[in-house]
Amino acid sequence: MQAPLSKSALLKSQSYIGGEWVEAKSGKTFPIINPATGEHIVDVADMGADETTLAVEAADKAQKAWQALTAKERATLLRRWNQLILDNQDDLATLMTLEQGKPFAEAKGEVAYGASFIDWFADEARRLYGDVIPTFAKDRRVLTVKQGIGVVAAITPWNFPIAMITRKAGPALAAGCTIVIKPSDETPLCALALAELAHQAGIPAGVLNVVVGQNAKDIGGVLTGHPTVRKLSFTGSTPVGKLLLSQCAQTVKRTSMELGGNAPFIVFDDADLDAAVEGAINSKYRNAGQTCVCANRILVQDGVYDAFAEKLAARVATFKTGNGFEQGVTIGPLINQAAVNKVEELVQGAISQGAKALVGGSKAAEAGAQFFEPTILTDVTDDMAIFSNEIFGPVAPLFRFKTEDEAVAMANNTPFGLASYFYSQNIGRIWRVSEALEYGMVGINEGLISSEVAPFGGVKESGSGREGSKYGIDEYVEVKYLCMGGL
Ligand code: ADP
Repeated sequence: MQAPLSKSALLKSQSYIGGEWVEAKSGKTFPIINPATGEHIVDVADMGADETTLAVEAADKAQKAWQALTAKERATLLRRWNQLILDNQDDLATLMTLEQGKPFAEAKGEVAYGASFIDWFADEARRLYGDVIPTFAKDRRVLTVKQGIGVVAAITPWNFPIAMITRKAGPALAAGCTIVIKPSDETPLCALALAELAHQAGIPAGVLNVVVGQNAKDIGGVLTGHPTVRKLSFTGSTPVGKLLLSQCAQTVKRTSMELGGNAPFIVFDDADLDAAVEGAINSKYRNAGQTCVCANRILVQDGVYDAFAEKLAARVATFKTGNGFEQGVTIGPLINQAAVNKVEELVQGAISQGAKALVGGSKAAEAGAQFFEPTILTDVTDDMAIFSNEIFGPVAPLFRFKTEDEAVAMANNTPFGLASYFYSQNIGRIWRVSEALEYGMVGINEGLISSEVAPFGGVKESGSGREGSKYGIDEYVEVKYLCMGGL
């Protein structure tokens, strides 16, 4: 299954700036490590502030001509890029499993999901309508046009190394913006492969740039400080998001922030328990629990708590932990040692305060250094650190509640507000709880809710702005008001 990587045209180790592959000025490189095996994959060039400035300048130089293309011309290039991504699904998924660790089948799923944003926004490029507004004065006419905001910066995380890029680059390019992307230094290979495919698709030099480097502070300093960059779209942790927001304030950049979550997954007494178990599996254990929409707190009503725990345990016991290239593996490694330590600390902390490990509970050392056992904890309470921290690992803590009001209060008792989920068969409850949850997204009797057609985003400290859907392109346009007088 694993392709001979050294022969893959998609394996790139330099950054892509102004349509060219460039080395770091310093000559420095850094290694990319396979999280499943600890093996060295390749060394990549380590860019810094100077190269980031060059990328911003290249994006600026390309922007007017890119904006001047017709929407159809931009859409045609985006469609070619989409097709090339799909044509190279296996190679891209191989790179992803190698550098990020998720099971190969899941990696292939992400490639298709990632491509879907480019396909979707290729269509949306042609629907960027303005308005003709009924006038306020007889001698004047009132119109609006939507224009691409200019040069955009994207800073992206490692958990979805392709999709987190395409759902920013798709709408940005569709709207006539050019973009400088800084992927996570844990997973730059997917980002560079996307750049190579954009190049092959004929997307002009400077329209899409990828700058890879270990010094996020320096690269981020240019992307948030350079006056030419008019917008930052960030996906990552809430503390870094807050820092970047403050940096962007100096030049009043537009921002979209997709930050951390602490998703509640509520199972009411009247739920279809089998469906709830499947939903919990999908929402909790995908990508070994390393998504910002993963169920982080499973709240189960008293009457079904034991039955739900038992059914969930039976399913989780069948999981296979290991290298994502192995047949049948459902749980891959965590991204790095720090992630493993954090998950272990949260689990041990809960156990020391009275929680019980119904399944798992420790590192899966036999699979490798960076694996954690798929785990279910029962008797978890809201005074434990695991209630308020994003776990980012394959651990399901089960909390108990008695009433609907108590469940909603527990669910909302967090500064975060990204995804939430609940299972109930009662139509009145479905409306009440949907409206009461302080979240940007609500899965009702469903654990998998992400799609390019739907608006993804959070409220409270989970961020601002929406990605995907008809709303996603609004993040990359300015509405310009034209007042025609003297008529
Ligand atoms: P995660 O926990 O998912 O790695 P981070 O917020 O640390 O989340 O990282 C998300 C992205 O933000 C990564 O590309 C990372 O390199 C980048 N990043 C981290 N710190 C900074 C910073 N100070 N300035 C700019 N980018 C940063």
